Amino acid sequence: DVDFEAEQYEKCREAGEILAQVRDEAAERVEVGVSHLEVAEWAENEIRELGGEPAFPVNISIDEEAAHATPERDDDTTFGEEMVNLDIGVHVDGWLADTAVTVDLSGQDELAAASAEALDAALEVAGPGVDVGQIGAAVEDVIEGYGFNPVVNLTGHGLGHWEQHTAPNIPNREVAQGATLSPGDVVAIEPFATDGRGKVKEGSSEEIFALEREGNIRDRTARQVLDQVTEEFKTLPFAARWLDSPRSKMALRRLKQQDMVHGYPVLKEAEGKFVSQKEHTVIVTDDGVEVTTR
Ligand code: MN
Ligand code: MN
Repeated sequence: DVDFEAEQYEKCREAGEILAQVRDEAAERVEVGVSHLEVAEWAENEIRELGGEPAFPVNISIDEEAAHATPERDDDTTFGEEMVNLDIGVHVDGWLADTAVTVDLSGQDELAAASAEALDAALEVAGPGVDVGQIGAAVEDVIEGYGFNPVVNLTGHGLGHWEQHTAPNIPNREVAQGATLSPGDVVAIEPFATDGRGKVKEGSSEEIFALEREGNIRDRTARQVLDQVTEEFKTLPFAARWLDSPRSKMALRRLKQQDMVHGYPVLKEAEGKFVSQKEHTVIVTDDGVEVTTR
């Protein structure tokens, strides 16, 4: 039997509580004319104030962007009349919570509602012994019911200790046979809805990175960056703007060449104009799920 009062679950809940509060307050700050960097840094600082750490850089994805966009250092981009997806993570001693919400400034209420309702349907279905394909089917049904498509090459995922993406993947469409959820699993469920065909592609910009492997590197700046990464972020994703080194971009290029660091290119819907997203983290219980990020 799973001990749901164990320290790891308590830390997951603590991360989730901090995250829910920061997500809701960050969402209220998203308005036309406000800068992306201001919202991202406010949220990341507030997480630390409340006793957590950002599990990854605040993702601010606009319109056809689905994920992995975050402001760069000194970024002066401001919100326009756009669809804004905020995706935020918190960890407490490496135990994670992951959540996302669409703040729609573009007038696409239906598209934002589609991913939100799909998440509600997924949470109804999820529980012990449930095949993740059934969750995908529930997501697909709701989004198609609105006349949109789910983004099929983005999925929910398990959350491990210091690991943001572990098995099982939780699909956003019906799949024949997936993994089965068990009591004690911690998973993020995240439907994406789009007016496009439902496939994202990698764009060219990259502001989020993660450690691939440790090792020796001769270049002094690259060495400093690698030291900061292994000490502060371990294997969790980090933003280029979080690095102390003023020459971090060059250092990151060197570390990528040596396969010590990998980047997360911004993901964009290939044909659509808009993508909406909603995400919660849950602990699978003996008879359903406990949402940690409500
Ligand atoms: Mn997320
Ligand atoms: Mn996630």
